[in-house]
Amino acid sequence: MKTFLLFFGFLVAPLAGNEIQHFTKAEILGDINPAHLKSFDKLKTKHCTKANAYLRDEVYSAFKKMAKEAEKDGVHFVIISATRNREYQAGIWNRKWNTFGGELLERAQKILQYSSMPGTSRHHWGTDFDLNSLNNSYFESGKGQKEYEWLRDHAHLFGFFQPYTAFNDSRDAGYREEKWHWSYYPTASKLQRAYNHLVSYQDLKGFNGSELAKELNVISNYVNGVEVPERVK
Ligand SMILES: [Zn+2]
Repeated sequence: MKTFLLFFGFLVAPLAGNEIQHFTKAEILGDINPAHLKSFDKLKTKHCTKANAYLRDEVYSAFKKMAKEAEKDGVHFVIISATRNREYQAGIWNRKWNTFGGELLERAQKILQYSSMPGTSRHHWGTDFDLNSLNNSYFESGKGQKEYEWLRDHAHLFGFFQPYTAFNDSRDAGYREEKWHWSYYPTASKLQRAYNHLVSYQDLKGFNGSELAKELNVISNYVNGVEVPERVK
């Protein structure tokens, strides 16, 4: 047994290293065109309101399984936003930057309530999507409440979790609560680990206010400001 464990330990160490190497910096930072990547699938129109939307293969498969199960309970899920690359995110960010007023730091903080700095979004990874509505209030009554309760009770069985919960003891920084944003833990957790190994603040540039990224601690507060429930791990 001891020999086996020693051997096993020896095997695991190089594997863990490879896991990180498995993702390129371009994938982690969203410098991709998912239409050109074999590891991504195009979403069918019955699953997504947007044309030309993509998720990683395994993420889309898990979503389809979950959506099918939910239908049996009379709950319908449709993806309204999936993979967004860094260039697209820069468009969102710069548009908000030019619309919102105030001091530069305040302006960035206001955008960061619900939108990521380019290069820091989980939507870059192909593991995350937004479901049904971009309003928390939608999920707090009637049909939306039923959908949210279904996710709360079942999403983990398919590998999904809500990374941006309401602030609490284990999550006290980052984006506001997003009841619509769901993430596929098996792949996203690896990408997050790779992000922390490979990305530094020097990589976050090319958009308005990028010099504030470090001051705002966007990597620790936003990239890592997620709550992962034990049951999804
Ligand atoms: Zn989202």
